[in-house]
Amino acid sequence: MNNMEYSKEWVLGLLRAEGPDLAELYRIADRVRHEHMGDDVYIRGIIEFSNICASNCLYCGIRAGNRGLRRYALSAGEILEIASTMADSQQMTVVLQSGETPVFGDEEIGNIIRRIKRETPLAVTLSVGNRPRETYRYWQECGMDRYLLRFETSAPGLFDRLRPGSSLEERLMCLRYLQDLGVQTGSGFMIGLPGETLNILADNIMLCRALDLDMIGIGPFIPHPDTPLGDEKNAYDDHREMYFKALAVLRIFNPDAHIPATTAYDVVFPGEGRDLALQRGANVLMPNNTPVKYRKDYFLYPGKPCVDESAEQCACYAITRIQSLGRTIGKGPGHSIKQRRR
Ligand code: SF4
Repeated sequence: MNNMEYSKEWVLGLLRAEGPDLAELYRIADRVRHEHMGDDVYIRGIIEFSNICASNCLYCGIRAGNRGLRRYALSAGEILEIASTMADSQQMTVVLQSGETPVFGDEEIGNIIRRIKRETPLAVTLSVGNRPRETYRYWQECGMDRYLLRFETSAPGLFDRLRPGSSLEERLMCLRYLQDLGVQTGSGFMIGLPGETLNILADNIMLCRALDLDMIGIGPFIPHPDTPLGDEKNAYDDHREMYFKALAVLRIFNPDAHIPATTAYDVVFPGEGRDLALQRGANVLMPNNTPVKYRKDYFLYPGKPCVDESAEQCACYAITRIQSLGRTIGKGPGHSIKQRRR
């Protein structure tokens, strides 16, 4: 397979697969995952350390305009306390995620990164939105290993409508900053945003490949009742298999990227969504380590699993799932394979 064959036409053909062709698509995706990433599943623990956001993305439950939430921000001490126990449950990466706002100053976040790197064996992934290049560089100096910044849709018009006040161009520029700095960079998109066509979905997959990402996170759009899109439907509501098709094609087009089985899959396919994702291309699980008292306030979409379970229970559940699928738990930080080759 050469680069010329990774065409949009091929993506579209794969996304239309049905019957035996669809079973073959999943089989190939699983084989590509096995050959390039092995059977290890990495467990990356998320801490949603603040739900304060200055933006108003139309699909997002923690958008600034949603007044029904209690806004919170964890202290550095609380974050450190959680991070210090994560390695005990084989979570060797902490993913620090928040809304997009400078509620935490750059230095405050930098100090948290430094302390995690000094006091724990964890790799640090940050996900706090668009920031200036200098800020990314500073956090990298503090020890930040990775950064997640999903572009959500590759269609500029749709992006402008769904993410008022920002642009796709700006998002892509931030991704370029991160990659130029040598930070392991993750991005991704939502599947089935209102207004998305199959053509846009194929473009989303092609953009992930063009960006040559270290990590790629995708998941179905799930309407949140307290948002302007609350009454909308997922574009593939009548063909939910598309969520897995997109994942499988993504794996085939990005053999060496870390791809999580995101929790949104469990919302649409309760009890089995993430397992199926792991069997169709994914190789990472991201259990929630946010203190239970804050979980309901980080309500990105309804039906989010693991709202009431403790961090230990969420991690334990992840371990059980991995083992029941006959897979192994990734040891160490699970850094990017691409990064090691660069
Ligand atoms: S998607 Fe991100 S930037 Fe947009 S409202 Fe939600 S948290 Fe804020």
